[in-house]
Amino acid sequence: MKITLNPDEGIVRMIQAGLEQSGGYCPCRREKTEDNKCMCREFKEQIKDPSFEGYCHCMLYYKSLQE
Ligand code: SF4
Repeated sequence: MKITLNPDEGIVRMIQAGLEQSGGYCPCRREKTEDNKCMCREFKEQIKDPSFEGYCHCMLYYKSLQE
């Protein structure tokens, strides 16, 4: 398993700018809660899920099942 940034640099720049503006809270969600701090709870759970492969909600990160 490995986590990589989205290969689309434009998306990465946009999400990282959103994270800077929000003080580290997920730019794709309204509530500023601990669960929504990057890396958010949802993506951490997807990382733990052995069958999940794909992007986080904002598409900043990609979880691949292959090394
Ligand atoms: S891991 Fe992805 S979805 Fe979760 S807070 Fe960070 S950018 Fe948003």
